[in-house]
Amino acid sequence: MPLINTQYDSIMREYARRQARSRQELEDRLGRIHREIPELSPLEDEITACQAGRVRAAVSQDKEQAEAMESALRDLVRKRERLLSSHGLSPSDLEPVYACPDCQDTGYIGAKKCHCFRQAEIDLLYHQSSLREVLEKENFRTFSYEWYEDGDREIMRRNVMEARMFIERFDDSFQNLLLLGAVGTGKTFLSNCIAKELMDTCHSVVYLTAFQLFELLSQAAFGREGSGGTGKQAYPYIFDCDLLIIDDLGTELPNSFTVSQFFLCVNERILRKKSTLISSNLDMEALRNVYSERTLSRIISCYTIRQLPGSDIRIRKKLNANSL
Ligand SMILES: [Zn+2]
Repeated sequence: MPLINTQYDSIMREYARRQARSRQELEDRLGRIHREIPELSPLEDEITACQAGRVRAAVSQDKEQAEAMESALRDLVRKRERLLSSHGLSPSDLEPVYACPDCQDTGYIGAKKCHCFRQAEIDLLYHQSSLREVLEKENFRTFSYEWYEDGDREIMRRNVMEARMFIERFDDSFQNLLLLGAVGTGKTFLSNCIAKELMDTCHSVVYLTAFQLFELLSQAAFGREGSGGTGKQAYPYIFDCDLLIIDDLGTELPNSFTVSQFFLCVNERILRKKSTLISSNLDMEALRNVYSERTLSRIISCYTIRQLPGSDIRIRKKLNANSL
């Protein structure tokens, strides 16, 4: 999917910023380490000299000298390891730290875009940059059962366990999830938990409310440009990303366009074996009435459907806060 130039430039600028940051951070760290361990510098000079000697021996095809250099180098490297370890450090402390070790913050692995570049494209095209902040607050570590009543708590534990299985099996089996439940029962929170885990493990995730999804699809279908100029570009990732999350299905104003587009989206992703997670306040009967029998039969045959228990957690949280 071609990015327009300014979008491409803004992603590449971010990579350049990250590289500059990690270079600076490494320089500062090395400065501190060398001040703390003065013996390190002469030892590193010896290692460099030994490496040069090894290259010279290889060029002149002096096998004996090459082996001697190799052995001396191994000893020096071990000596450096011991020296670092006696100061509570390891060889990796002398290396740069990258936000993405796979592409070393260049965005590319060879000529191919890295997974982090693909997600950066998605974040830009779908204005998802704030999603990461949300995911820092709403994830499995911060998930709490305390807002669920006794019986509901058990059901919720099972739902969370299934969500974890969904993530665990993500790369090996094709799965989809439909989360049903009243407003404020934790559907979005649970979707966020899944989104975070998958994004953290280098999967591309598009997160849209049903309203946003249909808006983008209509821009693409009718050739209108959105405020971000996404237009037709919106289509490929909606069908191709590793996980598409459609939040709050049923809150948009349904019409024949949204009904047909929803079928297209569900069906296309099933055909491409790309996972989808849908959450909705509607029950199955209402979904069938709004989105047609054929869409629901695709969902029933290819999705795991889970009902979230309880009533509005947000109201209970608020009541609780007020009574404190
Ligand atoms: Zn990368």
